[in-house]
Parts: sequence; C-alpha cells; structure tokens
Amino acid sequence: MFDLASRDIKYISGVGPQKADILNKELKIYSVHDFIYYFPYKYVDRSRIYYIHEIDGNMPYIQLKGKILGFESFGEGRQRRLVAHFSDGTGVVDLVWFQGLKFITSRYKVNEEYIVFGKPTVFGGRFNVAHPDLDKPEELKLTTKGLQPYYNTTDKMKRGFLSSPNLAKMMAGVLQQITTPLTETLPDWLIAEHHLMSLDDAIRNIHFPTNPDILRRAQHRLKFEELFYIQLGILRYSKDRQRKYRGFVFEKVSDIFNTFYTQNLPFQLTGAQKRVLKEIRKDVGNGRQMNRLLQGDVGSGKTLVALMSMLMALDNGYQACLMAPTEILANQHFETIKSLLHGMNIRVELLTGSITKKKREPILTGLITGEVQILIGTHAVIEETVQFKSLGLVVIDEQHRFGVAQRARLWNKNIYPPHVLVMTATPIPRTLAMTLYGDLEVSIIDELPPGRKPIATMHQFDNRRESLYASVRKQLQEGRQVYIVYPLIKESEKIDLKNLEEGYYHILEEFPEYKVCKVHGKMKPAEKEEQMQLFVSGEAKIMVATTVIEVGVNVPNASVMIIENAERFGLSQLHQLRGRVGRGADQSYCILVTTYKLAEDTRKRLEIMVRTNDGFEIAEADLKLRGPGDLEGTQQSGVAFDLKIADIARDGQLLQYVRDVAQKIVDTDPENSLPQNDILWQQLRALRKSNVNWASIS
Ligand code: ADP
Ligand code: MG
Repeated sequence: MFDLASRDIKYISGVGPQKADILNKELKIYSVHDFIYYFPYKYVDRSRIYYIHEIDGNMPYIQLKGKILGFESFGEGRQRRLVAHFSDGTGVVDLVWFQGLKFITSRYKVNEEYIVFGKPTVFGGRFNVAHPDLDKPEELKLTTKGLQPYYNTTDKMKRGFLSSPNLAKMMAGVLQQITTPLTETLPDWLIAEHHLMSLDDAIRNIHFPTNPDILRRAQHRLKFEELFYIQLGILRYSKDRQRKYRGFVFEKVSDIFNTFYTQNLPFQLTGAQKRVLKEIRKDVGNGRQMNRLLQGDVGSGKTLVALMSMLMALDNGYQACLMAPTEILANQHFETIKSLLHGMNIRVELLTGSITKKKREPILTGLITGEVQILIGTHAVIEETVQFKSLGLVVIDEQHRFGVAQRARLWNKNIYPPHVLVMTATPIPRTLAMTLYGDLEVSIIDELPPGRKPIATMHQFDNRRESLYASVRKQLQEGRQVYIVYPLIKESEKIDLKNLEEGYYHILEEFPEYKVCKVHGKMKPAEKEEQMQLFVSGEAKIMVATTVIEVGVNVPNASVMIIENAERFGLSQLHQLRGRVGRGADQSYCILVTTYKLAEDTRKRLEIMVRTNDGFEIAEADLKLRGPGDLEGTQQSGVAFDLKIADIARDGQLLQYVRDVAQKIVDTDPENSLPQNDILWQQLRALRKSNVNWASIS
C-alpha cells in the first residue's frame, strides 16, 4: 500500500519546495506525517457571524461581515497607524494596523465584502479591532466550519506565507489528499477497551473539529497514545533489564558498617534516614541491580545515607563511587566523608579535573588493585581511563546535572552494572518522575534533622533597602554570615555581571567594617575556590554571588539569604537557594527582593515561597505555573521532553491511567509474543528510532 504519510512534504500539491524548506528549518517538519502531527495550540469558534450593534467589550473574539467604507492614516514614522472604517449596516468599527500599511492598502479594497475576525477593544468611544484577519467570504469556506484551528508560527514562517490561516488551509488540503485512512497505531482491542477514537478520526478532528465534544475525544485519543507509548517503553525496558542483568548481591552488613554506626556516627539517624537505609539494604541484597532515586530536601542529610550505603558495598568486598556535579561539591563531600570515617582505615580518594597527573596515577592504580575503596569526584570519574577492580555501588548527587549518556557510561566499568543511587534535592513531582525515570524506585527523606528552625521568608521591594540593610546588620553583629545572590542568565550575562559588580561595590560601601567576598561562574576555578574558602572559614561575612552557590555549599553559620531580582528566578531555584541557610540551629531568614511592578504569576511564585518551606509543594506549584519543559532538571537531564499534545502538569491522572494499562500489558505479555500486541512493539521500535532513546534512561 502506498503510504502518503511518509512522503516528503515538498511533493505535496499546495506546499512546494520553498514552503517545505521553511517547514524543515523552522519546525523540523519533513514528511506529511510530521505535518499532520503539527497540532493547533488553540481553537476559536468561527461558526457565527455577529452584527456590529451586538458587540460588547467582553467578547474575546468577534466575526463580522461587511464592507470597508474608507481608509485613513494617522501619525508619523513609528507612530503611524492605518484605520479602515468598517460597516455592516448596523454600525461602524475601526480596523487598525500599525505595521505593513502599504500591503494592507494595496490588498484590501473599499466597498468589497470581507469577513473580519479579531479581538474587539474600545478606543475613543468606538470599537476597534487591531490587526484583524480579513478574508473574502468565498476564501473562508474550507477552514471555518466549526472551530477554527490556530497554529504556532515563527516570524520566518509568516514572511514565507505560512501564517496560521495559511497553515490551516494547507492542512485542510493535505488531509483531503489522504484518501485511505491513516494506519492505526494502537491495537483494536485497546481502542475498544478504552473507548478511543481511531487514529484517522483523531488526526482529522484535532485540526478541524466540528464541535468541542469531538475535539475533546480527539485530544484524549492522541494524549492517551503519546503518554502510553512513553510508559510502555520505560516499563518494557525495565522488565527486560530485570531479566537480563543480575545485580551484585551485598549479602551482609558487617564490620565496616557496624563500626561506623557504633563508633563514628556523630548523631542519631533521623527516622527517615533509617527507613531509606533499610530500603536500600533490601534492594542491594535481592540479586537485582538497584536503581533508586533518593529525594530529600536540602539539608535533610542525604550525604550520610550515601556514605552508609557505600559502606555496605565495602563490607562485601566491593568499591563505591560518589559523583558530584561540581568540583566544589566534590571537595566538600571528600572532606566530610574523610572526617566522618576518621580512624577507620578506609582509603578514600578524590578525583576531579584539577587533580594533577602525578597525583592521579596512584589513584588510578589503587582503583584497579582495589586498594582505593571509595572514590569521590566530578564527572572525571567516568572517563575511560578510570577503571575499578569491582565497582559495586555508584552514588550520583544532584543527578540532573549529569546527562543521561554520562550515566550510561558507568555501565562500561563492570561486567555487571553497579547498583545506582541517585540523589536529588530538587523534588520531582510524582507524575514527572514517572515519565523521566519510570523505572527508578523512589525513596524520600521527608524529615529534617532535629533542632532546625524553619527559615522565615519575606518579600521586599527594592526601594526599601534601608530597613533591609538594618536587619542584615543586626545578624552580622550577632556573628552570622550573609549571602546576597544575583541572577545570571545566559542571554543577559553581561548585564547580570554588571549588576553583580555594582551590588558588590554597593555592599562594600554599606558595610565597610566587614569582609565581603564575591563568586561568579566566570571566575577561574582557583579564584572561585579562594573566595568560597574565605566564606567557609568565616573570614568573609558577606558573600555576593551568582547562582553558582546553588548546590552544595554548606556554611551552617550563614543565616541570611538575600535574593536580588527574585522575580527572575524559578520557584525550584529559589527554594534551592534558600536551602543554603537554615543549616544551623539559629533562626534563618530568606529575603526575596524584587522591583515594585510584578506580573501576576511572579507574585504567585513569591507568595508560595513566603508561605511554605515544603520542597514538594513548591515543585508541584512550579510544574503548574511553568509547565514541565521549563522545570529545572528536565532540560539538563538530557531527556528530550518533547510532548506534542499531552501536558505532564495537567494530564497527571491520564498518565497514571496509561501507566497501569502499560504495566498490565508488560506483565501479561512478558515475551512480546501475543499476536494481538504486535502492533505495540512495532510502534515502540519506530518511536525509539525517531524519538528518545529510552534504553539509556535508567
Ligand atoms: P543534603 O541532604 O542537603 O545533602 P547534608 O547531607 O549536607 O544534606 O546534611 C545537612 C547537614 O545535616 C549536615 O551538616 C549533616 O552533618 C547534618 N545531618 C545529617 N544527618 C543528621 C542527623 N541525623 N542529625 C543531625 N544532623 C544531621
Ligand atoms: Mg547534598
């Protein structure tokens, strides 16, 4: 059968090579299939034509039919605007353009009939429609029955005659040329069981729905399919891996662990730490490879859990490795762990990019002989040259900064894959975790060590610096330390650094009696290290920094976190930054400084921060406010998070539902052998090729 869907879009009548080229470049649309999967982002009901005397100011859109009485132009240069007085006999509205004036006057004629579509506003006592859609009645027939689709377009597309209405016309034309129904991508039994629309109907109705009900059904079908195949891929892979890979068995907990527990542990474990350790203990003993995600808010004591898990590996004759995202953090872990293991005769080494070759050699040798038992480092530990005698456990701290590919490289260091414990302080909402790491088990530390006071968070406008500095001075006089953080965004890096410098000098002037240090990502590592050290040692009382301090730094004496331009940070990031204080027994403060004028969603973000310290609540809110694509951790994770229609933030329930459906299929058809499911595995293979490499997500 000839499959039109796989044809190159440029051969389709009504498209042609020039438009195809723009579609390739702007939207990565190459085939007819790609094109018909480019879905509208909204729909507007254009089934009804209004009379001008019916318009009221609250209508989001209006559609009118009438004639242009005449054109008039006002203003000069950039202020220029063109007005067309438009009437249908029941009244007059003004159509207004600020751009493309020549084009408008040459294209639209006085006294001819047009359909006007746009958003009405009131200006000078009259209704206005700015930059309306204007069509001849006969041109509109194809696409305006029922709901009108709106497609996202770029400037280049608009210039190349691929505006949203153009796309709609093209889409209608392409769908008309597809005369045999689109090949179904879900098995019949599944469609029947879950009352889904067929693929062919769904695609046609997602573009040109005749009513809202049909649109909802089409959307449901397509979202179902999209989420379903992601889950099926993850669960299938996970099942296969469970069957294929044995894991090291850590049979016993003995001398090393017990000595540490009874003699070196500086405090009582929290209940949550104990529970998580039990979960890990169970995982590493059952003969399967562990893949566990450990979520715990900043300061909840994950390092200790990591260390004690590593000791389990050591007790069974294996080596362990801890990877951190930055050198500073790796150093800090190294120091912490060395001091925790004091007197225990365990060889711990540090491997980062700045360890000299001379120092490196004996470490590498020690890893091969097995004398080095614990290795701590940055991504330097996954380089080819680093080989272990027998690596039993890898702990990855703040994993979202490690790419998926990097994690996969761990596999090469052993015949068996090591057990993996991934730790993160960025709480990932459940729905997202399921999609990103569908086959990871999740442990949660939901309890802070005793004696911590909740951080008090306040929001202040930047015109009230006097009182802000007064409270900072009070803390400094009590011997505390203070962070002042400025945003740093790639696009505006120069301006941001200027802000930081200005802020720094401002602080020097304001607090001449205290030593101030300064840290930002553009510094040489050695210089950065030196400045950090000033703060860690307590010599510097104030640190002015960009977000480089987000992860890791642990200075329990710091009690104030001031975040400048807080409106420019995302919720999760604000929460991470706030987590730098409140690490000691004293009351800590976080002050969010913003300009006076704030957008609605910014105000919401700040309100949430002031209201709660709960990382999960914040992550959920973040997901709702920003959508998953922006969510911290997803971009850096290396997962192509390219959902066409489903929305992780809104379709959480459906995600859970399809996950159950997929789980049942994997359980009842463990060998992929039931003929009724053939289509599923074919489709999964096809998607794997074109999409995300699920196999490397673990
Ligand atoms: P995170 O989970 O953010 O990595 P850390 O492991 O750095 O947190 O722990 C934060 C602080 O809490 C450290 O100073 C650590 O020594 C301390 N800590 C960890 N566990 C406990 C505990 N059970 N009781 C008291 N303090 C603890
Ligand atoms: Mg940590």
